[in-house]
Amino acid sequence: MTQHVKVVPAVKCSNKPFRREKRINIVKTEKCGWGATALETIEKDDFVIEFVGEVIDNAMCEDRLQDMRQRRDQNFYMCKVSKDFVIDATFRGNACRFFNHSCEPNCRLEKWQVKGKTRLGVFASQTIKVGMPLTYNYRFSPSFGPEKECFCGVPNCRGKL
Ligand SMILES: [Zn+2]
Repeated sequence: MTQHVKVVPAVKCSNKPFRREKRINIVKTEKCGWGATALETIEKDDFVIEFVGEVIDNAMCEDRLQDMRQRRDQNFYMCKVSKDFVIDATFRGNACRFFNHSCEPNCRLEKWQVKGKTRLGVFASQTIKVGMPLTYNYRFSPSFGPEKECFCGVPNCRGKL
């Protein structure tokens, strides 16, 4: 059975965008723990970094979420790509783990098909200047994961994420 992944434009079938990641800095933020900032100017729609982690299925994901709730762990690094395809960056993630959530993020996650494999990339949704915090909306899929307070600070913050 082939799984249909909704990535329509043909240009999205190449490994080109995953070739060079942007230079980013890991910084300690005031309210959101660790965060990532840009070390170079990033143009709108540029590839920033691959969302790397362990691929787990729904059951494993539920187990881990349950564990997190029990430990009252607020650090949430999972991204649900599709059913039984969750990427957990908790243990084997790259710097994408340090991107914070924002209700008005400057990056977005995109699914790409690269040589028959689904990969997740973080792309800039606007021009990002050097030193700006890199953020994306953790709610890639709605109502996924534990709810927690949002400190993103944008005027339209929903207060929770
Ligand atoms: Zn917010």
